[in-house]
Amino acid sequence: MIKSLEFIGPMATVEGWRPTNELPEVAFAGRSNVGKSSLLNRLVRRKAFARVSNTPGRTREINFFKVNDTFVLADLPGYGYAKVSKTRKAEWLPLIEGYLRASAALRGVVQLLDVRHHPSEEDLQMFDFLAEIEVPTIVALTKIDKLKPREVAKRVHEIAVALRLEDDQMIPFSAETNQGRDDLAAALMSLIEQPSWRAAPTTLELEPDEATADAEHVEAAPLEAPPGDVA
Ligand code: GDP
Repeated sequence: MIKSLEFIGPMATVEGWRPTNELPEVAFAGRSNVGKSSLLNRLVRRKAFARVSNTPGRTREINFFKVNDTFVLADLPGYGYAKVSKTRKAEWLPLIEGYLRASAALRGVVQLLDVRHHPSEEDLQMFDFLAEIEVPTIVALTKIDKLKPREVAKRVHEIAVALRLEDDQMIPFSAETNQGRDDLAAALMSLIEQPSWRAAPTTLELEPDEATADAEHVEAAPLEAPPGDVA
């Protein structure tokens, strides 16, 4: 249940300002026209995203929204729009990648794909990046009302195979019928409730004894023969 939604500001460049945030953050990514504003409007039951995202100058920025004082939604700029020139196209990547690498509050990414289309080169580039940083990712397949239910099931599987994901990592969604909205909200809540994947345990957390034993073990390991000793 969404009680409040507040636009807390944009981030325009990798090194630029972004709103400070202590709350868990989830980012939404997808190519232009995939249906991201429509999905976000349905998710939070407000028209705020369409308004902010359609403001001239805002479309190339990451827009941050605080929801219910419990989490922050980062609306990433839509990428790969056909009418955008090649140079302009390349701008989305550094901003999005820089943000995803640096945001300490980030818990996960919701990646949107149009259920009717095979993932584009940019979609695949985005997926490779998400896999590289190992951020928990959910895939929402948009505009399912445009296909028959049987075709949707087939496309879900085909896209899962193409992305090497499980079918249940895909959430079929329609902003037209609102189908999939509750599944998406539940998946989003589980991302928010998880601890950050970045907080991997380090050797500093080892008990002193274990740390010493480990160091001794390393020293006791057989050394590689120096080059030249091999007959
Ligand atoms: P964005 O650029 O990713 O924010 O995409 P929009 O949300 O603005 O949607 C792009 C177009 O697709 C608009 O014309 C929407 O009305 C349409 N659209 C978005 N979601 C759906 C959907 O679930 N079903 C149908 N039939 N059309 C949709």
